[in-house]
Amino acid sequence: MTTNTTYDPLIDTSPANLDWPDSYWASTVDTPKINPRLSGYKQADVVIIGAGYTGLTTAYYLAKRFNIDCCVLEANSVGFGASGRNAGFVLKGSGRLGYAQMAKRWDLDTAKGIYNEFSQAVDRVSDLISSHHIECDPQEKGYLKIAHNMKALKSLQSASKFITDHLGGEAEFVSQERLTHEFMDHHQAYGALRLNDGFGLNPLKLALGYKQMVENQNVTIFENSCVKQWLEENGKHRLITEHGEIQANRVITAGNAYTPKLFNPKLDEKFLPILSNIIATEPLSNEELKLAGLHTRQVTMDTRILKYYYRLLPDNRLLLGGRGAIYGKDATNPAYARRLRFALGQCFPSLANKPISHNWTGWIAAAMDDMPHVYMQGGTGYSLGYCGAGVSFSAQAGFRLAQSIAGDELPSLPLYTQPLPHFPMPQLRRLGQWGYYHYGWLKDRYF
Ligand SMILES: Cc1cc2nc3c(=O)[nH]c(=O)nc-3n(C[C@H](O)[C@H](O)[C@H](O)COP(=O)(O)OP(=O)(O)OC[C@H]3O[C@@H](n4cnc5c(N)ncnc54)[C@H](O)[C@@H]3O)c2cc1C
Repeated sequence: MTTNTTYDPLIDTSPANLDWPDSYWASTVDTPKINPRLSGYKQADVVIIGAGYTGLTTAYYLAKRFNIDCCVLEANSVGFGASGRNAGFVLKGSGRLGYAQMAKRWDLDTAKGIYNEFSQAVDRVSDLISSHHIECDPQEKGYLKIAHNMKALKSLQSASKFITDHLGGEAEFVSQERLTHEFMDHHQAYGALRLNDGFGLNPLKLALGYKQMVENQNVTIFENSCVKQWLEENGKHRLITEHGEIQANRVITAGNAYTPKLFNPKLDEKFLPILSNIIATEPLSNEELKLAGLHTRQVTMDTRILKYYYRLLPDNRLLLGGRGAIYGKDATNPAYARRLRFALGQCFPSLANKPISHNWTGWIAAAMDDMPHVYMQGGTGYSLGYCGAGVSFSAQAGFRLAQSIAGDELPSLPLYTQPLPHFPMPQLRRLGQWGYYHYGWLKDRYF
């Protein structure tokens, strides 16, 4: 395997010919057999571009629930994109936007509707795992959101109250003392919000499990089949790869943050691909776990603007992720892993010198309004903008996309009724990101 370091969706026009990254997850599976690429001329009612969670679940529901003829084209192999390299947190979260903010932006019913969609998303992933016997190492339930200062603690307290009082959900507030004794001796925590329905899993095993689930419905997934050209003629779509062409009545773009530049005018300049970087330590001994005060395998994230997220893996490695470089060309700069390692030592001082076994990065797609958009119009559709929370929501998006193709009406929520908004001055997205990182660094440190 080689590391995919140079692909940059805002710069490159093709994500083809790249292997899985050297992630910890890649070391936990046998290399799967790669499916044949598209060759010659074919036809299908629906073609899905991209075989991550979104593309695979869309194909599954189209075939299984609606009996609609479809196939999937993947530029590399299943698991190449974010779906094979993420941190494996299954969360009822909407990325960066809190539910109280949603109620303010729209109204309480809309916030409730969105909460319901995210709740269904977590249940949907759990159901797919159990009904298709996907062995992806799900861990104990629970998602801890750690307050990194007193101000954050207060806003977590009100978030917890909003979820229980207005959304009918279960959220508990965990004091600093209880956090230390029951969960973790985190040296930068002031307390936490705990939701009981998040959990961690092996994301690559989930992606490969979805692949099998789709193929069991007799849907073809063509791998090493990057769509290089997309032409519309007489109401039909011609998708052209290096070795073949397929004609479709309808097309779903499921390339998410890996969608290349100038590929789909409906997506161009409407998302910001952001690099997230993950490190994993060598396995911790029982003695090291005790010294670090780590008593939980529940998934954890903090409240910083530039968040850190972490979890204890089944073999006792500690995974920790956070922001990466701004440009793809800098993805492997060791400064970013060093920064994560420093954060690890600050949270759990006894682990400051624990050797790191794996270090990898991947692209997350952020939308201008911090929320996903699943949108279908005139025979083409997309789902994008999970803002780093797509392990669960991608399954709900796949279901909703399939429903939309089948002609069902979707809930009247901004997730489904509004296309991705434009970024103002899109050519300055990276400059804005650089400014935001500096603002975030100052705010996280001093305010
Ligand atoms: C480091 C990291 C950590 C993350 N951690 C979490 C987490 O813990 N929890 C969480 O909920 N989310 C997390 N995310 C986000 C989550 O992984 C994504 O939201 C989710 O995997 C998106 O799935 P997808 O199917 O939409 O896209 P992807 O999995 O990215 O799949 C897109 C696919 O489309 C293919 N493609 C693109 N263009 C073409 C083309 N022209 N022709 C053919 N194929 C094409 C690509 O090769 C790729 O395989 C993380 C992401 C990263 C990068």
